[in-house]
Amino acid sequence: MSKRLYVTSLVQANNCSHQYKLKVSGFEPKPPDTGLLAGILFENAAKIYLPRTEISAKEAVLAANENNLPENILNFVEFALEKLPDELKTAETADFSVFAERELGGFMLAGYVDLVADGAIYELKYTHKYMNEPQKAHIFQLQHYMYLLDRDEATIVYACNTKKPSVLAFKVKRWSEHKYLALIRGLANRYYEDAPLGLIHDWLCDYCAFSHVCEYKNEQNEVYLSYDSTK
Ligand code: SF4
Repeated sequence: MSKRLYVTSLVQANNCSHQYKLKVSGFEPKPPDTGLLAGILFENAAKIYLPRTEISAKEAVLAANENNLPENILNFVEFALEKLPDELKTAETADFSVFAERELGGFMLAGYVDLVADGAIYELKYTHKYMNEPQKAHIFQLQHYMYLLDRDEATIVYACNTKKPSVLAFKVKRWSEHKYLALIRGLANRYYEDAPLGLIHDWLCDYCAFSHVCEYKNEQNEVYLSYDSTK
């Protein structure tokens, strides 16, 4: 029988395998901060806003504001919904958290794709930075989605809550199967065999829900994987 690989575990193993270990060791994650709650609001408001009906962006944001976030964040999320790419705003179907599984290279790959609109894959991200290109970690995440749904292209949309707010969309191409399988084989070994810390992305500790109990925090630049999964 094929080994089952969950996309969430692969993404976590690629980012920081130690985070996964802290999670399964029973440590409690930190409560979400305002930035994380704003990201959740953006996603939940998009679920109400898409596919487009007569509901306005403002109404979608107010309906999704379960955590009573302040007005400046509500205004930004409203702006971000209105600035979504045209092909998303005109899509006739928009399905969120689409479950998919697929046998590939001896594995059973399984996971949830963030958003599928008119058959095309999208990932929505809220960020405090201006993004002039997609993050490597996000390109990697989209590879799983493209392989799960057998698509050659996916789009990542960044809602950038900066001094000059913007919404930027980037197309990402699917990697060759050879390259993709080499990467997930390495990651599968890591998460099944409890291998040591493998951290590629030095911004991760800033967003990590387990940084309060992590002995490796701030050492991230000294510990790298023996291969570069991002090329
Ligand atoms: S704080 Fe950094 S090194 Fe520690 S678990 Fe989180 S991401 Fe990994």
